[in-house]
Amino acid sequence: MAEFKLPKVYDFKLVEEKWQKTWEEKGLYRFRREDRTRPTFSIDTPPPYPSGDLHVGNALNFSYIDFVARYKRMRDYNVFFPQGWDCHGLPTEVRVERAIGKRRSEVDPLEFLRLCKEYTLKWIGDMRAALKRLGLSIDWTTEYMTMNPDYWRRTQLSFVEMYKKGLIYRGEHPVIWCPRCETAIAEAEVEYVEKSRPLYYIKFKVAETGEDVVIATTRPELLASCVAVAVNPTDERYRSLQGKHAVVPIYERKVPIIFDEDVDKTFGTGAVMICTYGDKTDVKWQKKHNLPLIISITDNGRMNGNTGPLQGLPIEEARKKIAEILREKGLLVKTENIQSTVGTCWRCHTPVEILPKKQWFVKSTALNEKVLEEAKRINWVPPYMYKRLENWVLNLDWDWVISRQRLFATPIPVYYCKDCGAELVVPPEKLPHDPRFDSPPFEKCPKCGSKNIVPERDVMDTWMDSSITAAVHAGWPDNFDERLFPADLQPNGYDIIRTWDYYLLLRGIALFGKPQFKTALINGMVRGTDGRMMHKSYGNYVAVTEVLEKYGADSFRLWVAMAASTGQDVRFSWEGVDYAHRFLVKIWNAARLASSFIEEVPPPSMEELSHVDHWILRELSETIRQVTSSLENYQFQEASQRLVDFAWHKLCDHYLEIIKYRLSQGDRVAKYVLRLVLLRTIQMLSVFAPHVSEEIYQEVLKGSENWESITTSPWPEQVEYDAEKAKTGEIVVAIIAEGRRAKHDAKIPLSKEISKLTIYTTMHLEELRKATGDIAGTLRAQKVEVTSSGRGDRAVPEYPEITISLQP
Ligand SMILES: [Zn+2]
Ligand SMILES: [Zn+2]
Repeated sequence: MAEFKLPKVYDFKLVEEKWQKTWEEKGLYRFRREDRTRPTFSIDTPPPYPSGDLHVGNALNFSYIDFVARYKRMRDYNVFFPQGWDCHGLPTEVRVERAIGKRRSEVDPLEFLRLCKEYTLKWIGDMRAALKRLGLSIDWTTEYMTMNPDYWRRTQLSFVEMYKKGLIYRGEHPVIWCPRCETAIAEAEVEYVEKSRPLYYIKFKVAETGEDVVIATTRPELLASCVAVAVNPTDERYRSLQGKHAVVPIYERKVPIIFDEDVDKTFGTGAVMICTYGDKTDVKWQKKHNLPLIISITDNGRMNGNTGPLQGLPIEEARKKIAEILREKGLLVKTENIQSTVGTCWRCHTPVEILPKKQWFVKSTALNEKVLEEAKRINWVPPYMYKRLENWVLNLDWDWVISRQRLFATPIPVYYCKDCGAELVVPPEKLPHDPRFDSPPFEKCPKCGSKNIVPERDVMDTWMDSSITAAVHAGWPDNFDERLFPADLQPNGYDIIRTWDYYLLLRGIALFGKPQFKTALINGMVRGTDGRMMHKSYGNYVAVTEVLEKYGADSFRLWVAMAASTGQDVRFSWEGVDYAHRFLVKIWNAARLASSFIEEVPPPSMEELSHVDHWILRELSETIRQVTSSLENYQFQEASQRLVDFAWHKLCDHYLEIIKYRLSQGDRVAKYVLRLVLLRTIQMLSVFAPHVSEEIYQEVLKGSENWESITTSPWPEQVEYDAEKAKTGEIVVAIIAEGRRAKHDAKIPLSKEISKLTIYTTMHLEELRKATGDIAGTLRAQKVEVTSSGRGDRAVPEYPEITISLQP
């Protein structure tokens, strides 16, 4: 007997490290730019935020991408799997502040930026290592960072081009403002939370008659900003107020009483105040009725000089203070608690305000119809994810505000002429450019000749960086490779459909007149073991590195594939990872056993194959067909479950057991079939579990096909078999299984010979008489008789018409 070619214990650490290193050294997964023969397949990999910690959700997202990349490579695509890092933004600034124990305002801006870069590089290092340990087939030569000057140049150029097209403008509009972060934020960055809060009933006087009118509001601290009172025109209670005015208490200002059908008669008293700005409705009414603006809140969330006694107080305190004052003056009728939705900052969870601000905007509302038109043509996997995008787009009220009052971000490449007000956009050839620190590229204003030029100090929303990734991956603007654009695949979680997918569509249409991707592959979220969202503060957080340490990448990846259908949420399960691991151990052991028998032999003729051989080839062929079709449709759960079921329960549990006696006799046909089936199985498995598959191929199965790696071998095609014989083979497998159970029940060791096995059947008499070889061999029966007369002791469960009896 030949030697085993695999160690007894499957040491995943050794195997995974070895192949990750080898693949990288060989440059196996590099995109071959010069190769014009094969079709390309390009992936717009989401550039993660470098937080330093790879979340299980990220790992799931990346596993999905890698399944596709590996499958497509085996289908002979020239696969482009790039990798970038979305460095900028508030989260980084906040983390750096925490790391250095100082606020941004306490550090010199250039020094703070240097620290942001330094920490970002460190965090990228940690995450890069984690991604590599996951066995992702990324082309690391493509790696980029959005904080690097070359990426700045691209983001800034995209800004300049959209500005020239009139799709970016500067203007004063209401924006959502985070008073804690002191910056404008986009609608996509607002998180809505349900809160119980008091509703205050406040007495106003009608100026003309002196009678009281009571309004209800949750924001009494904005009384100083009140510019009108509104009621519904169909509200009988207020009919007499037509054309009259109200006096704002405390501030004693006269404001019009407006009749507007959008006022909810059932809210409070049916009379409300309009102020600058309590909510989005205020913005609408202010525009519609052409009301003045009175701002009460400063950029850092305190009450300003317009608010009299409230001046200097933080918003929450001002609310309590004004309620007190109103109560003292007898102007507060009552308060009651109501449930209402409060918009908060996605980063710091502070309630956001709406303030009129001079900011930069993308003209997104004008493009949204086109965005939806194009989005409908995209292949959404699963299809219902399109609805999420549509709902989001249809609910967008305002243009996308892209300027941020922060530091660590791509600068807006603009100057202003202080004399004529001209906006001076930095010319493309001078990019990248940082107006905050570089010297201006203009000597004087081209419009009026003034030398009085000032820089824009605001920076861009980080989504301006990451919403051009597909184009950047394709080489835009320098060496645009049209094969890579639009990207074939856009893989991301459903939580960022409203940001990443939406902004990519918007920017693709604005800059290139088309979407930046063809298929959107949407994954669900990974929940904690308790089913809640995974969060460190819930105590249900699982670190990817912990899973990789205990089980390795292959087990984790296979669990990811099997855990849920594409787009569904996944609950993290140690049992699930353990199940995947046990399967890989099973395959390892099967390959190890096989390694002592199999060698490459010339293919036998179809006639030489036994019935059971035909059966396993049929099962293999069917598995190849189904796995292929599932992978074509991005259905990883279907594909992996089918493959595991075949490999574990058909190949290992049945076929391998049945042919052991033939292998030990040196049967050339059995050797051939086993090698073929194992090879094809491992090829498919390499999509999910590449390391163990490679080890088995290189150590056990490598033959005259001489593939450099199993992970780049040609995807298996269906195999030939005889359908009739396969059918009989299936019966033989069932009979053998029952025969083994019979031996077990009779306490006869499987290895011990029995004198006779009798099979009773009328329906399968003829074919079974030709198929007794494997039955006799496997059950070690000296004689097998197939007869139509009589009945055995035990029925074969899958074929109850067939019964068997066994003679020791
Ligand atoms: Zn904030
Ligand atoms: Zn000028």
